[in-house]
Amino acid sequence: MFSKLRDKLKNWTQGLIKKAIVEEVEKVAKKEKAEKPAKEKKESIKKENKKKFKEETQEEVKEEIKPIEEHEYVEPKQKIFDKKEREVSEKILEDIKIEEEKKKGFFKKIFSGINKIKISEEEFEKYFEDLEYLLLENNVALEVSEKIIQELKEKIVGKEFSKKEIEEKIKTSLKEIIEEILIEPFDLIKKIRQKAEPLANSSGSQNKQKNTPFVILFCGINGGGKTTTIAKLANKLKKQEISCIMAAADTFRAAAIDQLKKHGENLQIKVISHEYGTDPASVGFDAIKYAKKNKIKCVLIDTAGRIHTSKNLMIEIEKIKRVCNPDLKLFIGESITGNDAVDQVKSFDDAINLDGIILSKADIDEKGGTALSVGYITKKPILYLGTGQEYDKLEKFDKKKFIESLGL
Ligand code: GDP
Repeated sequence: MFSKLRDKLKNWTQGLIKKAIVEEVEKVAKKEKAEKPAKEKKESIKKENKKKFKEETQEEVKEEIKPIEEHEYVEPKQKIFDKKEREVSEKILEDIKIEEEKKKGFFKKIFSGINKIKISEEEFEKYFEDLEYLLLENNVALEVSEKIIQELKEKIVGKEFSKKEIEEKIKTSLKEIIEEILIEPFDLIKKIRQKAEPLANSSGSQNKQKNTPFVILFCGINGGGKTTTIAKLANKLKKQEISCIMAAADTFRAAAIDQLKKHGENLQIKVISHEYGTDPASVGFDAIKYAKKNKIKCVLIDTAGRIHTSKNLMIEIEKIKRVCNPDLKLFIGESITGNDAVDQVKSFDDAINLDGIILSKADIDEKGGTALSVGYITKKPILYLGTGQEYDKLEKFDKKKFIESLGL
């Protein structure tokens, strides 16, 4: 799951660090270059001095050997002179060596000095396009990637970090940003229980919620995994001993009614259905009536999912909402569709004001950006991830785990 985005983020972070180091080296080199003329001048002065020193030394040598010449002629004049000059040139060589060593030390210092990295605005600007591209490529919507980049910029630009710190800083910054983008999911089962429990313990008139099931209206586009996810959730409720029924309110397609009935049979959970083409709101209404009568704790209403731009579809779902007055309206979409899922969730949110999102097919999604996008665009929590075709493949969405799966 989500391996592509994780790997790309890692590469980007390392690329940015490398770039910052290269820029830093270039900066030092530039400084070096700027200082070069001054250095050359210094060198020529030094050379002059050396020359002068040599001449002076030769004079000195001459002076030194004079008395020797006059009083005790031990060695030939040239020999003494050569010896003295050798001493002088050795000293000059020594000086040069010291100079070289000093230089070496300076470069050593430069490279170890790049322990500290400061990413300038220009460097970030140059590099952020790559980040934006990798986010977009991995199903992160433009609005969301812009937010991530802006916040990351505020967190790292102009601040000084050590080489060791910078990678960690980028990681923790991204982590913080994503944590903020994703809304903390509520506990759906707990919510259902909170409404269902007084019903079970009820002893009469004080309980206003008597015989009132918890109703969830599901919406989403055909093929997005809606029916399968409803069945998965029904299975989960059954396992938790929360009685439930499913309502086949997608009366637009005969196959959808049959599909839900099939799931009902498999799971031994009742499905309320009407004929193909009947009013979907009436199916939901009847399911709630049945649940009240039979003290069923939860009603899961499946709905039609033609293209999300269909005005009729939105009018239809609004009507179901009005008639059934659900406790929750949940969108089910595919994790793999990226921007399409964002457009879909927006349309449904505008129509019925969603309470949460379930993303199916996370098991075959290598990118992971859809979760960020739908969460940020709607400001609604992701409650579950579908992680396979089987009934038990419905995982509670865990922000921490999701962020970890991105390698942060
Ligand atoms: P609907 O048209 O929205 O009701 O979609 P369906 O429930 O019929 O699902 C469409 C296809 O997606 C079916 O083949 C499902 O088995 C498959 N599917 C649903 N959820 C998941 C999931 O989490 N992972 C995988 N791999 N497939 C899924």
